Amino acid sequence: MIKIQRQVVLASYTTLRIGGLARFFTVVKNLEELKEALRWARENKKEIFILGGGSNILLTKSFPGLVIKNEITGSEIIRETEKSVWYQAYSGENWQKFVETSVRHHLYGLENLASIYGTVGAAPVQNIGAYGAELKDVFVSLEAINLKTGRSKIFKAADCHFAYRDSIFKKSLKGKYFIYRLTVKLSKEPRLNLNYGGIKDILSAKKIKTPTSKQVALVVTELRASKLPVPAVLPNAGSFFKNPEVSEKEFKKLQKRWPEIKFFPGSKPKLIKIPAGWLIEQAGFKGKRYGAVGMYEKQALILVNYDGASAAEVLAQIKRVIKGVKKRFDLTLEPEVNIIPPLTKK
Ligand SMILES: Cc1cc2nc3c(=O)[nH]c(=O)nc-3n(C[C@H](O)[C@H](O)[C@H](O)COP(=O)(O)OP(=O)(O)OC[C@H]3O[C@@H](n4cnc5c(N)ncnc54)[C@H](O)[C@@H]3O)c2cc1C
Repeated sequence: MIKIQRQVVLASYTTLRIGGLARFFTVVKNLEELKEALRWARENKKEIFILGGGSNILLTKSFPGLVIKNEITGSEIIRETEKSVWYQAYSGENWQKFVETSVRHHLYGLENLASIYGTVGAAPVQNIGAYGAELKDVFVSLEAINLKTGRSKIFKAADCHFAYRDSIFKKSLKGKYFIYRLTVKLSKEPRLNLNYGGIKDILSAKKIKTPTSKQVALVVTELRASKLPVPAVLPNAGSFFKNPEVSEKEFKKLQKRWPEIKFFPGSKPKLIKIPAGWLIEQAGFKGKRYGAVGMYEKQALILVNYDGASAAEVLAQIKRVIKGVKKRFDLTLEPEVNIIPPLTKK
Protein backbone atom coordinates (compact mmCIF):
# COMPACT_ATOMS: atom_id res chain seq x y z
CA MET A 1 0.00 0.00 0.00
CA ILE A 2 1.29 3.45 -0.86
CA LYS A 3 1.92 6.18 1.68
CA ILE A 4 0.94 9.73 0.71
CA GLN A 5 3.29 12.25 2.31
CA ARG A 6 2.55 15.96 2.54
CA GLN A 7 4.67 19.09 1.98
CA VAL A 8 7.79 17.25 0.84
CA VAL A 9 10.83 19.36 -0.11
CA LEU A 10 11.70 18.49 -3.72
CA ALA A 11 15.15 20.12 -3.98
CA SER A 12 16.95 17.06 -2.60
CA TYR A 13 15.31 14.88 -5.27
CA THR A 14 16.90 16.91 -8.09
CA THR A 15 20.53 17.07 -9.27
CA LEU A 16 20.27 20.89 -9.49
CA ARG A 17 19.20 20.92 -5.80
CA ILE A 18 16.33 23.27 -6.56
CA GLY A 19 12.62 22.78 -5.99
CA GLY A 20 9.74 23.92 -3.85
CA LEU A 21 7.34 21.68 -1.96
CA ALA A 22 5.25 18.83 -3.29
CA ARG A 23 1.86 19.21 -1.63
CA PHE A 24 1.47 15.41 -1.94
CA PHE A 25 4.28 12.92 -2.58
CA THR A 26 4.47 9.16 -2.91
CA VAL A 27 6.97 6.49 -3.94
CA VAL A 28 5.83 3.59 -6.15
CA LYS A 29 7.72 0.30 -6.33
CA ASN A 30 5.46 -1.78 -8.60
CA LEU A 31 2.52 -1.56 -10.99
CA GLU A 32 -0.10 -2.08 -8.27
CA GLU A 33 1.30 0.84 -6.27
CA LEU A 34 1.39 2.99 -9.39
CA LYS A 35 -2.28 2.21 -10.12
CA GLU A 36 -3.16 2.98 -6.51
CA ALA A 37 -1.39 6.36 -6.76
CA LEU A 38 -3.20 7.17 -10.01
CA ARG A 39 -6.53 6.24 -8.39
CA TRP A 40 -5.76 8.46 -5.40
CA ALA A 41 -4.96 11.42 -7.71
CA ARG A 42 -8.17 10.82 -9.70
CA GLU A 43 -10.37 10.60 -6.59
CA ASN A 44 -8.77 13.68 -5.03
CA LYS A 45 -8.69 15.58 -8.35
CA LYS A 46 -4.95 16.19 -8.14
CA GLU A 47 -2.54 16.85 -10.98
CA ILE A 48 0.37 14.38 -11.27
CA PHE A 49 4.08 14.93 -11.76
CA ILE A 50 6.35 11.94 -12.41
CA LEU A 51 9.76 12.12 -10.83
CA GLY A 52 12.62 9.88 -11.94
CA GLY A 53 16.18 10.71 -10.90
CA GLY A 54 15.50 14.47 -11.09
CA SER A 55 18.52 14.99 -13.37
CA ASN A 56 16.72 16.84 -16.14
CA ILE A 57 14.32 19.13 -14.32
CA LEU A 58 14.19 22.60 -12.87
CA LEU A 59 11.27 22.88 -10.46
CA THR A 60 10.72 26.59 -10.03
CA LYS A 61 7.61 26.49 -7.82
CA SER A 62 5.85 24.29 -5.32
CA PHE A 63 3.68 21.61 -6.91
CA PRO A 64 0.06 21.60 -5.77
CA GLY A 65 -0.68 18.03 -6.90
CA LEU A 66 0.80 14.55 -6.36
CA VAL A 67 4.46 13.86 -7.17
CA ILE A 68 4.98 10.17 -7.96
CA LYS A 69 8.58 9.09 -7.42
CA ASN A 70 9.29 6.10 -9.64
CA GLU A 71 11.16 3.24 -7.99
CA ILE A 72 9.87 0.37 -10.15
CA THR A 73 13.13 -1.44 -10.86
CA GLY A 74 14.44 -4.58 -12.52
CA SER A 75 15.51 -5.76 -15.97
CA GLU A 76 15.48 -9.00 -17.95
CA ILE A 77 16.20 -10.52 -21.32
CA ILE A 78 12.81 -11.25 -22.91
CA ARG A 79 13.88 -12.67 -26.29
CA GLU A 80 17.06 -13.91 -27.86
CA THR A 81 18.22 -14.98 -31.31
CA GLU A 82 21.64 -16.01 -32.54
CA LYS A 83 22.67 -12.39 -33.09
CA SER A 84 20.41 -10.23 -30.93
CA VAL A 85 18.88 -9.79 -27.52
CA TRP A 86 15.67 -7.99 -26.59
CA TYR A 87 16.42 -6.46 -23.24
CA GLN A 88 13.65 -5.00 -21.10
CA ALA A 89 13.90 -2.77 -18.05
CA TYR A 90 11.34 -1.29 -15.72
CA SER A 91 11.28 2.47 -15.78
CA GLY A 92 12.58 3.20 -12.28
CA GLU A 93 15.76 1.24 -13.00
CA ASN A 94 18.90 3.35 -12.87
CA TRP A 95 20.07 4.04 -16.44
CA GLN A 96 23.77 3.63 -15.62
CA LYS A 97 23.07 0.24 -14.03
CA PHE A 98 21.06 -0.82 -17.11
CA VAL A 99 24.01 0.06 -19.39
CA GLU A 100 26.53 -1.61 -17.06
CA THR A 101 24.51 -4.83 -16.96
CA SER A 102 24.22 -4.88 -20.76
CA VAL A 103 27.98 -4.51 -21.32
CA ARG A 104 28.72 -7.05 -18.61
CA HIS A 105 26.64 -9.50 -20.66
CA HIS A 106 28.81 -8.65 -23.72
CA LEU A 107 25.94 -6.88 -25.48
CA TYR A 108 26.43 -4.00 -27.89
CA GLY A 109 24.31 -0.90 -28.39
CA LEU A 110 24.23 1.03 -25.10
CA GLU A 111 27.96 1.59 -24.49
CA ASN A 112 28.09 5.17 -25.86
CA LEU A 113 25.21 6.08 -23.53
CA ALA A 114 27.15 4.99 -20.43
CA SER A 115 27.21 7.19 -17.38
CA ILE A 116 24.10 9.26 -18.18
CA TYR A 117 22.19 10.09 -15.00
CA GLY A 118 18.57 9.25 -14.26
CA THR A 119 16.11 6.44 -14.83
CA VAL A 120 15.28 4.15 -17.74
CA GLY A 121 11.77 5.66 -17.94
CA ALA A 122 13.00 9.18 -18.59
CA ALA A 123 15.37 8.07 -21.37
CA PRO A 124 12.69 7.99 -24.10
CA VAL A 125 11.20 11.30 -22.91
CA GLN A 126 14.09 13.26 -24.40
CA ASN A 127 15.56 10.44 -26.52
CA ILE A 128 18.79 10.65 -24.53
CA GLY A 129 21.94 10.90 -26.57
CA ALA A 130 25.70 11.13 -26.28
CA TYR A 131 28.84 10.32 -28.26
CA GLY A 132 27.00 9.88 -31.56
CA ALA A 133 24.33 7.52 -30.18
CA GLU A 134 20.71 8.04 -29.23
CA LEU A 135 18.20 5.84 -27.45
CA LYS A 136 16.15 5.62 -30.67
CA ASP A 137 18.99 3.62 -32.32
CA VAL A 138 18.23 0.59 -30.11
CA PHE A 139 14.63 1.30 -29.13
CA VAL A 140 12.03 -1.43 -29.81
CA SER A 141 8.98 -0.38 -27.79
CA LEU A 142 7.74 0.89 -24.46
CA GLU A 143 4.70 0.27 -22.35
CA ALA A 144 3.10 3.30 -20.76
CA ILE A 145 0.17 3.80 -18.42
CA ASN A 146 -2.37 6.53 -19.13
CA LEU A 147 -2.40 8.78 -16.06
CA LYS A 148 -6.15 9.46 -16.33
CA THR A 149 -7.54 6.02 -17.21
CA GLY A 150 -4.83 3.75 -15.77
CA ARG A 151 -4.87 1.79 -19.06
CA SER A 152 -1.70 0.42 -20.59
CA LYS A 153 -0.56 1.20 -24.15
CA ILE A 154 2.37 -0.04 -26.24
CA PHE A 155 4.34 2.58 -28.15
CA LYS A 156 6.53 1.50 -31.07
CA ALA A 157 9.38 3.74 -32.28
CA ALA A 158 7.20 5.49 -34.89
CA ASP A 159 4.60 6.35 -32.20
CA CYS A 160 7.23 8.12 -30.09
CA HIS A 161 8.21 10.77 -32.69
CA PHE A 162 11.82 10.66 -31.57
CA ALA A 163 13.94 13.63 -32.60
CA TYR A 164 17.02 15.42 -31.26
CA ARG A 165 16.46 15.47 -27.44
CA ASP A 166 12.76 15.20 -28.10
CA SER A 167 9.79 12.85 -28.32
CA ILE A 168 6.01 12.88 -28.21
CA PHE A 169 6.32 12.66 -24.38
CA LYS A 170 7.78 16.20 -24.34
CA LYS A 171 5.13 17.46 -26.77
CA SER A 172 1.49 16.38 -27.27
CA LEU A 173 1.65 13.57 -24.67
CA LYS A 174 3.57 15.62 -22.09
CA GLY A 175 2.33 14.73 -18.61
CA LYS A 176 -0.21 12.23 -19.98
CA TYR A 177 1.56 8.87 -19.58
CA PHE A 178 3.73 7.07 -17.05
CA ILE A 179 6.40 5.15 -18.97
CA TYR A 180 6.35 1.77 -17.26
CA ARG A 181 8.87 -0.39 -19.11
CA LEU A 182 11.20 -0.15 -22.05
CA THR A 183 12.56 -2.72 -24.50
CA VAL A 184 15.75 -2.25 -26.50
CA LYS A 185 17.34 -4.56 -29.07
CA LEU A 186 21.03 -5.14 -28.52
CA SER A 187 23.57 -6.98 -30.63
CA LYS A 188 25.63 -9.95 -29.53
CA GLU A 189 28.16 -9.11 -32.22
CA PRO A 190 30.52 -6.14 -31.92
CA ARG A 191 28.92 -3.11 -33.53
CA LEU A 192 30.67 -0.04 -32.28
CA ASN A 193 30.52 3.65 -33.04
CA LEU A 194 33.89 5.12 -32.05
CA ASN A 195 33.90 8.26 -34.14
CA TYR A 196 32.89 10.79 -31.54
CA GLY A 197 34.47 12.89 -28.85
CA GLY A 198 37.89 11.29 -28.64
CA ILE A 199 36.83 7.65 -27.94
CA LYS A 200 39.26 6.38 -30.59
CA ASP A 201 42.18 8.42 -29.21
CA ILE A 202 41.78 7.04 -25.69
CA LEU A 203 41.43 3.47 -26.98
CA SER A 204 44.60 3.78 -29.02
CA ALA A 205 46.44 5.41 -26.08
CA LYS A 206 45.43 2.34 -24.07
CA LYS A 207 46.57 0.12 -26.99
CA ILE A 208 43.12 -1.46 -27.30
CA LYS A 209 42.67 -2.54 -30.92
CA THR A 210 39.44 -4.53 -30.81
CA PRO A 211 37.49 -3.04 -27.91
CA THR A 212 34.54 -4.69 -26.22
CA SER A 213 31.37 -2.77 -25.36
CA LYS A 214 32.52 -2.75 -21.74
CA GLN A 215 35.82 -1.10 -22.67
CA VAL A 216 34.02 1.53 -24.74
CA ALA A 217 31.60 2.21 -21.87
CA LEU A 218 34.59 2.71 -19.56
CA VAL A 219 36.23 5.14 -22.01
CA VAL A 220 32.97 7.10 -22.34
CA THR A 221 32.70 7.21 -18.54
CA GLU A 222 36.28 8.47 -18.32
CA LEU A 223 35.69 11.16 -20.97
CA ARG A 224 32.51 12.34 -19.28
CA ALA A 225 34.18 12.47 -15.87
CA SER A 226 36.90 14.73 -17.28
CA LYS A 227 34.39 17.25 -18.63
CA LEU A 228 31.21 17.17 -16.58
CA PRO A 229 30.76 18.34 -13.01
CA VAL A 230 29.46 15.68 -10.61
CA PRO A 231 26.03 16.85 -9.37
CA ALA A 232 26.72 15.68 -5.81
CA VAL A 233 29.65 18.12 -5.72
CA LEU A 234 28.44 20.90 -8.04
CA PRO A 235 24.67 20.62 -8.51
CA ASN A 236 23.69 20.75 -12.21
CA ALA A 237 21.37 19.13 -14.75
CA GLY A 238 23.86 18.41 -17.54
CA SER A 239 23.54 20.37 -20.78
CA PHE A 240 21.07 23.09 -20.00
CA PHE A 241 20.27 24.15 -23.58
CA LYS A 242 19.79 22.30 -26.87
CA ASN A 243 22.23 22.91 -29.69
CA PRO A 244 20.35 25.18 -32.12
CA GLU A 245 19.86 23.93 -35.67
CA VAL A 246 19.73 26.32 -38.62
CA SER A 247 19.26 26.06 -42.40
CA GLU A 248 22.35 25.94 -44.64
CA LYS A 249 21.51 29.47 -45.83
CA GLU A 250 21.32 30.87 -42.30
CA PHE A 251 24.51 29.05 -41.41
CA LYS A 252 26.42 30.60 -44.34
CA LYS A 253 25.43 34.05 -43.10
CA LEU A 254 26.66 33.24 -39.60
CA GLN A 255 29.89 31.72 -40.91
CA LYS A 256 30.62 34.83 -42.95
CA ARG A 257 30.42 36.95 -39.83
CA TRP A 258 32.09 34.39 -37.47
CA PRO A 259 34.49 32.30 -39.61
CA GLU A 260 35.61 30.31 -36.55
CA ILE A 261 32.04 29.16 -35.76
CA LYS A 262 31.80 25.49 -34.72
CA PHE A 263 29.22 23.24 -36.39
CA PHE A 264 28.03 19.65 -36.94
CA PRO A 265 25.57 17.96 -39.28
CA GLY A 266 22.02 18.58 -38.03
CA SER A 267 19.43 15.99 -37.04
CA LYS A 268 17.83 16.24 -40.51
CA PRO A 269 19.34 16.76 -43.96
CA LYS A 270 20.06 20.41 -44.78
CA LEU A 271 20.18 21.41 -41.13
CA ILE A 272 23.38 22.51 -39.41
CA LYS A 273 23.81 22.11 -35.66
CA ILE A 274 25.75 24.77 -33.78
CA PRO A 275 27.12 23.83 -30.33
CA ALA A 276 25.22 25.91 -27.78
CA GLY A 277 28.26 25.70 -25.47
CA TRP A 278 30.37 27.55 -28.05
CA LEU A 279 27.70 30.25 -28.49
CA ILE A 280 27.40 30.72 -24.71
CA GLU A 281 31.17 30.90 -24.36
CA GLN A 282 31.45 33.49 -27.16
CA ALA A 283 28.70 35.51 -25.52
CA GLY A 284 30.98 35.77 -22.48
CA PHE A 285 29.25 33.50 -19.95
CA LYS A 286 31.77 30.66 -19.58
CA GLY A 287 33.04 30.41 -16.00
CA LYS A 288 31.38 33.70 -15.04
CA ARG A 289 29.38 33.66 -11.83
CA TYR A 290 26.28 35.67 -11.05
CA GLY A 291 25.73 35.23 -7.32
CA ALA A 292 25.19 31.53 -6.67
CA VAL A 293 24.84 30.49 -10.34
CA GLY A 294 26.97 30.41 -13.46
CA MET A 295 27.92 28.48 -16.58
CA TYR A 296 30.59 25.85 -15.76
CA GLU A 297 34.19 26.88 -16.40
CA LYS A 298 35.06 23.69 -18.35
CA GLN A 299 31.82 23.48 -20.36
CA ALA A 300 29.72 26.60 -20.86
CA LEU A 301 26.58 24.57 -21.64
CA ILE A 302 26.22 23.45 -18.04
CA LEU A 303 24.43 25.69 -15.60
CA VAL A 304 25.80 25.15 -12.10
CA ASN A 305 24.18 25.91 -8.78
CA TYR A 306 27.37 26.85 -6.91
CA ASP A 307 25.96 27.75 -3.57
CA GLY A 308 22.32 27.17 -2.66
CA ALA A 309 20.87 29.22 -5.53
CA SER A 310 17.16 30.02 -5.56
CA ALA A 311 14.90 29.11 -8.47
CA ALA A 312 14.60 32.84 -9.21
CA GLU A 313 18.39 33.15 -9.55
CA VAL A 314 18.48 30.18 -11.96
CA LEU A 315 15.60 31.59 -14.00
CA ALA A 316 17.38 34.96 -14.19
CA GLN A 317 20.53 33.19 -15.42
CA ILE A 318 18.59 31.26 -18.10
CA LYS A 319 17.04 34.49 -19.36
CA ARG A 320 20.41 36.29 -19.23
CA VAL A 321 22.11 33.59 -21.31
CA ILE A 322 19.27 33.40 -23.85
CA LYS A 323 19.32 37.19 -24.20
CA GLY A 324 23.14 37.36 -24.47
CA VAL A 325 23.28 34.72 -27.22
CA LYS A 326 20.34 36.29 -29.07
CA LYS A 327 22.04 39.69 -28.99
CA ARG A 328 25.35 38.40 -30.29
CA PHE A 329 24.23 35.79 -32.84
CA ASP A 330 20.51 36.39 -33.35
CA LEU A 331 19.89 32.75 -32.38
CA THR A 332 17.35 31.72 -29.75
CA LEU A 333 18.52 29.02 -27.34
CA GLU A 334 15.92 26.53 -26.16
CA PRO A 335 16.30 24.83 -22.76
CA GLU A 336 16.91 21.07 -22.88
CA VAL A 337 16.09 20.76 -19.18
CA ASN A 338 12.39 20.47 -18.33
CA ILE A 339 11.44 23.71 -16.60
CA ILE A 340 8.33 23.30 -14.49
CA PRO A 341 6.15 25.30 -14.93
CA PRO A 342 7.48 26.17 -18.42
CA LEU A 343 9.14 29.52 -19.14
CA THR A 344 6.81 32.21 -20.43
CA LYS A 345 7.90 34.18 -23.47
CA LYS A 346 8.55 37.69 -22.18
C1 LIG B 1 25.85 15.66 -15.27
C2 LIG B 1 24.71 15.30 -16.21
C3 LIG B 1 25.01 14.88 -17.50
C4 LIG B 1 23.97 14.56 -18.39
N1 LIG B 1 24.30 14.13 -19.65
C5 LIG B 1 23.32 13.83 -20.54
C6 LIG B 1 23.64 13.36 -21.86
O1 LIG B 1 24.81 13.18 -22.21
N2 LIG B 1 22.63 13.10 -22.71
C7 LIG B 1 21.32 13.26 -22.35
O2 LIG B 1 20.45 13.00 -23.19
N3 LIG B 1 20.99 13.69 -21.11
C8 LIG B 1 21.95 13.97 -20.20
N4 LIG B 1 21.61 14.43 -18.93
C9 LIG B 1 20.20 14.64 -18.59
C10 LIG B 1 19.53 13.44 -17.86
O3 LIG B 1 20.49 12.58 -17.33
C11 LIG B 1 18.59 12.66 -18.79
O4 LIG B 1 17.68 13.51 -19.43
C12 LIG B 1 17.81 11.57 -18.04
O5 LIG B 1 17.12 10.76 -18.96
C13 LIG B 1 16.82 12.15 -17.02
O6 LIG B 1 16.38 11.08 -16.21
P1 LIG B 1 15.66 11.32 -14.81
O7 LIG B 1 15.13 10.01 -14.37
O8 LIG B 1 16.58 12.02 -13.90
O9 LIG B 1 14.46 12.26 -15.24
P2 LIG B 1 13.72 13.46 -14.40
O10 LIG B 1 14.68 14.60 -14.35
O11 LIG B 1 13.27 12.89 -13.10
O12 LIG B 1 12.54 13.74 -15.34
C14 LIG B 1 12.73 14.34 -16.62
C15 LIG B 1 11.36 14.46 -17.31
O13 LIG B 1 10.88 13.17 -17.68
C16 LIG B 1 9.62 12.91 -17.05
N5 LIG B 1 9.64 11.50 -16.63
C17 LIG B 1 10.54 10.91 -15.81
N6 LIG B 1 10.25 9.59 -15.68
C18 LIG B 1 9.14 9.36 -16.41
C19 LIG B 1 8.33 8.20 -16.66
N7 LIG B 1 8.61 7.00 -16.11
N8 LIG B 1 7.25 8.34 -17.47
C20 LIG B 1 6.94 9.53 -18.03
N9 LIG B 1 7.65 10.66 -17.83
C21 LIG B 1 8.75 10.57 -17.04
C22 LIG B 1 9.54 13.86 -15.87
O14 LIG B 1 8.20 14.12 -15.50
C23 LIG B 1 10.28 15.08 -16.42
O15 LIG B 1 9.42 15.85 -17.23
C24 LIG B 1 22.63 14.70 -17.99
C25 LIG B 1 22.34 15.12 -16.68
C26 LIG B 1 23.37 15.40 -15.79
C27 LIG B 1 23.04 15.83 -14.41
